[in-house]
Amino acid sequence: MARIFTIANQKGGVGKTTTSVNLAAGLAKLGQRVLLVDLDPQGNATMGSGIDKRTLKTTVYQVLIGMSDAEETTVWAEAAGYHLLPANRELAGAEIDLIDFEQRETRLKDALAAVDDQYDFVLVDAPPALSLLTLNALCAAHGVVIPMQCEYFALEGLSDLVATIKKVHANLNSNLKVIGLLRVMFDPRMTLSQQVSAQLEQHFGDKVFRTVIPRNVRLAEAPSHGLPGVVFDPASRGAKAYLEFGAEMVERAKSM
Ligand code: ADP
Ligand code: MG
Repeated sequence: MARIFTIANQKGGVGKTTTSVNLAAGLAKLGQRVLLVDLDPQGNATMGSGIDKRTLKTTVYQVLIGMSDAEETTVWAEAAGYHLLPANRELAGAEIDLIDFEQRETRLKDALAAVDDQYDFVLVDAPPALSLLTLNALCAAHGVVIPMQCEYFALEGLSDLVATIKKVHANLNSNLKVIGLLRVMFDPRMTLSQQVSAQLEQHFGDKVFRTVIPRNVRLAEAPSHGLPGVVFDPASRGAKAYLEFGAEMVERAKSM
């Protein structure tokens, strides 16, 4: 049975997609069978995995509304080294289309149950909102990975996300827990980064991942080549950090 993790933070631009594609690629390099689910209508994880979102006939949208299933919609992202359930802007319609469905929060969970045995890890790249799509991502998951920048406003919003996770845990998915906070885009030269990082460790203890992802331009350049940074430039500091994070996730998954 696959371990299902959602990469969530309702803020945009905090590194969810970068974490999703690079963790997926890192886990694949470690020999894990990985499915990445793009659950953001922006389709950045799809493009960043080397799949052109504009040419897709079926995406996760059709899966959510019951017009297709996960198996036939999943594509092999050859260059990236993992399977992908892709998305494009059509997915934005799901928020409204799903209103008429019963159990609309568990559409993704139900769809993934059919392919669960084919993977070791399923990662879900959530959109930047506490929306019905994010709710689907949380209902489907065993755990949440929260990427955070170590800056002044980083903690703002975290409490909303944690409250949402608690509600989902209480009402919809008793398996759900926060696996950890991942420090991303870390700049060790900034005193503030150091301070916020230390604060996170103090408040959240072992809920903060050991691995720290540095700010590294190669990670930002990789998507324009349709590749995860881990594949685009494996020798870069960013790629090495995400590989290390992959190993840390394998370890955590064992003790779950
Ligand atoms: P989100 O999915 O949360 O909106 P992204 O992963 O798209 O965030 O990241 C936002 C921007 O920051 C992107 O341009 C991305 O390339 C860049 N970025 C993310 N992580 C890093 C990093 N560790 N170093 C440098 N740039 C990064
Ligand atoms: Mg994103």
